[in-house]
Amino acid sequence: MSANTSERRALMLREMGLTPQWRAREASGATMPSPVPPMIAVPVVVPDAPEGVDGVSPLPSGDSERRAAIMQMDWPQLKACVADCTQCGLHARRNKTVFGVGDENADWLFVGEGPGADEDAQGEPFVGQAGKLLDAMLAAIQLKRGANVYIANMVKCRPPGNRNPEVGEARACEPFLHRQIDLIQPKLIIALGKVAATYLLAREASVASLRNKIHRYRGIPLIVTYHPAYLLRSLQEKARAWEDLCFAVDTLQGLKNTGGETI
Ligand code: SF4
Repeated sequence: MSANTSERRALMLREMGLTPQWRAREASGATMPSPVPPMIAVPVVVPDAPEGVDGVSPLPSGDSERRAAIMQMDWPQLKACVADCTQCGLHARRNKTVFGVGDENADWLFVGEGPGADEDAQGEPFVGQAGKLLDAMLAAIQLKRGANVYIANMVKCRPPGNRNPEVGEARACEPFLHRQIDLIQPKLIIALGKVAATYLLAREASVASLRNKIHRYRGIPLIVTYHPAYLLRSLQEKARAWEDLCFAVDTLQGLKNTGGETI
């Protein structure tokens, strides 16, 4: 392992709160699989999934005018449209819409499934404990919220009781995310958790089976990793999420080196 790789590993372990566990295991002499992925990404490129196939319903038909209007909006118009939206039933119990936050010209776009209670109260995605972990994950790869990073959700209003967004809700809200993506033009999308991955890739599958591959969403490379709220309950997957971040860093670097031609 090179010095740079070693330093990067140590930094990421520290930032993601893994160092004590790692040291304890090393001290015990336990055989430990290397958590370090290849530093040169060997991408497994998954064919672009057509929208609305493989078990996830397409956008409701008859909604093309609304969608077309959204796709013409600038940032202020889009934010105002979301703030006033009553397109699906989630509007009824929301306190605040959660539009998204960050650098509107970011290379990195992180997408979760929907707001929780803290987000609904504050109107910002990924606050509370899961948000702190996401910020630590960003710091591990020398990023921070708002600087070359945009954070959004599939749905902009909180599903009651923190249930998963239903298909109709996700599809009703999806044009907003599409417009955000078109305005941001990120180089890489990170899907956080199974629900976001399922809707973005229009395919029901486990995070374990989707991670460590390069997918595409609206033509943009997409990598799947675990949702921070899930990582708070699963230290083992936290180490895998760190691998995913390394993979993402290397993928983006590869994109920059090749102008995106080989991904
Ligand atoms: Fe509108 Fe999306 Fe909120 Fe549904 S979740 S009311 S589509 S902003």
